[in-house]
Amino acid sequence: MIILLGPPGSGKGTQAKLLSQAYHIPQISTGDLLREEIANETQIGLEAKRYIQQGLLVPDEIVLGMLFARIEKDDCKQGYLLDGFPRTVTQAEQLYQKHSSKKPPLVISLEVPDEQIIQRAVGRLLCRQCGKIYHQINSPPLTEGVCDDCGGEIYRRSDDHEDVIRERLRVYHGQTQPLIAYYSEKNLLKAFNGSEPTQKVFLNIKSYIDQSHR
Ligand SMILES: [Zn+2]
Repeated sequence: MIILLGPPGSGKGTQAKLLSQAYHIPQISTGDLLREEIANETQIGLEAKRYIQQGLLVPDEIVLGMLFARIEKDDCKQGYLLDGFPRTVTQAEQLYQKHSSKKPPLVISLEVPDEQIIQRAVGRLLCRQCGKIYHQINSPPLTEGVCDDCGGEIYRRSDDHEDVIRERLRVYHGQTQPLIAYYSEKNLLKAFNGSEPTQKVFLNIKSYIDQSHR
């Protein structure tokens, strides 16, 4: 079991995808699972929907029940990667108990300074048509406002504003610091510098995983 921790905007999603491909293991996100259950109108989905519609968080027992059912499936036998879970120490403890008979998890923490995340996100531009990502300073389109690939209109997402990102990071750090302490205490945490180029970060993580499984 690989657990990937990292602030929003750290490149965690990209690393999760690369690792999942490299090891042929499923990438499991409880957010995606919930959306699936809701779309399929399962019992869990309907229950979860009631909380979401009231603006409440879906309770741990529902999320954990759903996750535990997922990791029992055959495609998880060779391992799996958790993306965006656990979020709290309580969730981590329950996961740990559930998993206690198996190999200890590898907990990977991607570290990127807040200022760098903000800088990356604030300059981010997107094509409205094909979704291609640009950066105002690092990789602007050839013609301002026009997508190189498809000619679509380039825009900035409304939540890519500095105050929104700062708040998201504040919430993240508040939630995650206890989690990082929890896994460090158990000697399960390995931190990686997420500021480096994507491929370099990936190779660093991969060599750590390979070593741990020797
Ligand atoms: Zn485009």
